[in-house]
Amino acid sequence: MPHTCYINGEWRPARSGQTRTIICPGTGQTVDTVSEAGTEDTLDAIAAAREAFDSHCWEGWSAWDRGELLRRVADSIEERKEDFALAESLDTGKRLPESRIDMDDIIGCFRYFGTLAGHDAGRVVDAGDPTVVSRIVREPVGVCGMITPWNYPLLQAAWKVAPAIAAGCTFVLKPAELTPHTAILLMEVLDDLAVPRGAANLVTGAGAEAGAPLASDPRVDLVSFTGGLVTGRGIAAEAAATVKKVALELGGKNPNIIFADADYEAALDNALNAAFLHSGQVCSAGARLIIEESLAERFVDDLVTRAGHIRLGGPHDEKAETGALISKAHREKVHAYVERAKEQGARVRCGGRFAEGRSADGSLDLSQGYYYEPTVIDQCTQDMDCVHDEAFGPTVTVETFRSEEEAIRIGNDTDYGLAGAVWTSDARRAERVAGALRHGTVWINDFGPYLPQAEWGGYGHSGVGRELGEAGLEEYTETKHIYQNTSPAVTGWFEDRR
Ligand code: NAD
Repeated sequence: MPHTCYINGEWRPARSGQTRTIICPGTGQTVDTVSEAGTEDTLDAIAAAREAFDSHCWEGWSAWDRGELLRRVADSIEERKEDFALAESLDTGKRLPESRIDMDDIIGCFRYFGTLAGHDAGRVVDAGDPTVVSRIVREPVGVCGMITPWNYPLLQAAWKVAPAIAAGCTFVLKPAELTPHTAILLMEVLDDLAVPRGAANLVTGAGAEAGAPLASDPRVDLVSFTGGLVTGRGIAAEAAATVKKVALELGGKNPNIIFADADYEAALDNALNAAFLHSGQVCSAGARLIIEESLAERFVDDLVTRAGHIRLGGPHDEKAETGALISKAHREKVHAYVERAKEQGARVRCGGRFAEGRSADGSLDLSQGYYYEPTVIDQCTQDMDCVHDEAFGPTVTVETFRSEEEAIRIGNDTDYGLAGAVWTSDARRAERVAGALRHGTVWINDFGPYLPQAEWGGYGHSGVGRELGEAGLEEYTETKHIYQNTSPAVTGWFEDRR
């Protein structure tokens, strides 16, 4: 029986004895079997994390020591990078080169928070009275519940685990049930590095069972969730009953705005990356191409031609450029989205079907995995569902504009607000548009980069709070004001009638 739950410093199976078989979506082959944790396992993990926090498990670890631990986590992942990348690729179906890049980003994240730990020593504020010392200090928020998605499994976990340790919290991590293996490897690393017992806990299981208690249990002080809007809403509602801190990183419907004066080849190449990297299963995917009318025909023709040539294949396929969707059910959801776009009058210029035939290097029949052809949906209007709903697949919608104001209006015409880009050679216009877009990240003449030292998160329905950067560490802290009177004296407010 697999022992993939890590609770109170021990590896164990699910109490129910249930297991789950993990299938590689790129090949349809079985990867492995893991424990299928249920509510009772998560309650055990919460109890362990609570006990560890309340018994000061990090006592004796200065913030510098916790930073050093994070730097050693980074070193360990670097040493075992191939193991980590392979595990990520087999779970997600993503090509190995992409997983290697993800691992580099994860290593960078642990190093960044390793450096940041202990840098904020608080501040002294002027109380307007020389006999008072008024200090603002940051303390660990406590027990953190972390729920993560399947598209960038370890990266999303790292954005939570690293700041939580930097702050001195304890945590329970519940990765997406389809992609648990890199989280298991991370716990092995933390165990090897002798993280305090109960400080780090992992439950591998489904959301409704293993995840839900992290939102509803009063012993959890913060729930940090990355995933879909509907799940996020439910988690916020559950968490409200116990008035815990909530951090939400939800979806996006991200505008990629291209003016006619943009560098054509760079904009075209990046529009492909924005839409089709990781088959569009990226929260910040540029799934909404918003292009100046005078450029649209040529640009979209070229986009369609290039999208039609994208090579598909599994994790080990060196000739492939992108991989499969995560599951059969998800591919069907993406297909239904495309069909609805057609029904509402949009024109599918390429793709719109399950991919068939051989993979890029010929080693695989694409019907063995959940492949979907890169899809360009042209002639979209703002009343269509396809320009508002997140497809989370290899699709891009095309809308056109005639003026800067119209470009901004269309770019902001979404309930989400995660990320967006503007392409233009006019620096002043770039600044104006970047300033006007209501999105958490805006790229000028680029699409996709993020930095561990720069905050990431969304406006509107894209979430609450920020990950990465200094704010990403602050999420895992409480702020305390310590007011010290260095010269205590009688106030005389109430008359002394003794
Ligand atoms: P999802 O919401 O279905 O699942 C995310 C996680 O929540 C999984 O671990 C799942 O098991 C868990 N979960 C499901 N139901 C739950 C419940 N009732 N209680 C507690 N946990 C529960 O999302 P997904 O399909 O895994 O991921 C895709 C979504 O994630 C997309 O919408 C994408 O945009 C979003 N995402 C956002 C970011 C970001 O940084 N904003 C990053 C990656 C993904």
